[in-house]
Amino acid sequence: MEKIDNGNTKGGLQKVIPLVSDLLPQGNYSADGVVLRRRETSPKSGDCLLFLRDMGALWAGAPGPRNRFGGATEPMTWGRFILYQGPRRLYLKSVDVAEDFLSVRGSKKSLLCAARWCRELGARLPAGHENNGVLSLFWGSMTNLSKGLCSTLLDVRFAWRWGKIWGVSPSLDSCPECGSPLVTDEGAAMTEWGFLCRTCRLNASSNRYKTVSQGAMEIIKRACMSSADAFVRTEPELRAHLSASAGLEQEVGDIASRLFVFLSFTV
Ligand SMILES: [Zn+2]
Repeated sequence: MEKIDNGNTKGGLQKVIPLVSDLLPQGNYSADGVVLRRRETSPKSGDCLLFLRDMGALWAGAPGPRNRFGGATEPMTWGRFILYQGPRRLYLKSVDVAEDFLSVRGSKKSLLCAARWCRELGARLPAGHENNGVLSLFWGSMTNLSKGLCSTLLDVRFAWRWGKIWGVSPSLDSCPECGSPLVTDEGAAMTEWGFLCRTCRLNASSNRYKTVSQGAMEIIKRACMSSADAFVRTEPELRAHLSASAGLEQEVGDIASRLFVFLSFTV
C-alpha cells in the first residue's frame, strides 16, 4: 500500500505500513487487493470490506449508489483501490479493476467455494493487519478455481495452507501424540487438536471422533503439501480419485470445513 503524496514534498509516493485504518494519516492511498464483502448502509451508500496488500482487511465507505462503481465493489473483484483517509474513516474513491473472475461466478459450485473463502476471510482476518501471504494464497486459489480445477481440492488446500501461514494447521504427516505416520494408519481421526493415529484415537477418553479414511488422508496430504506447480500437475489424478470412490469427495469436503475451525484459535 502506498500513500499518495499531493506534491508538497519530494518523492511523490511514501511507503507506509499502517496497523489500523483509524491510525492512517489523513490523505490519499493506493493499494492492490480484493473486495470480500459489500453491505448497503442506506439507499445511497454502502461499505466494502477490502483485503489489501500491506494493510490486511478493513472496511471502507463506498459513498453513492451501488452502481456508482459499476461492478468494482462486488465481492471477489480484484484491482487497485484508491482510498481517502478522512478525519474519521476511510473511503473508497475509485477502483481500477484487474480481475472480476466472471468464470467463477458462472459455475454454482465454484461460486459457492469462492463465496465461502470470502466469508471465512472476512470473519477471521484481524482488521488492519498485513496478511500478504494469505492474500497471495487467495489470489492463486481464485485463479485455479477460474481455470476449472476441482473446488473440493482447492478448498481443502486453501484452508490448510492458510492455517500453515498462521502456524495453526494440524500436521498431515504424523500424530501429534505419538509421532506415528498418518497416511499408512487406517483409522486415524481428526480431533480439535489435530489428526490422531488409530492407537491414540482409541486411547482418547472420548470416542466421538469420526475416523478418516486412508484414501482421504492421502488426497489431503498431496493436495495441501505440494507446491503450487506440483498441485496443478497432480490435480487431474487427485480429482479422478475423488470421483472414483463414493463418499470420498464428501469426506474431503467435511475435513476442509473443519480445517477452517483451526483458524478460529488465533483471533
Ligand atoms: Zn498417535
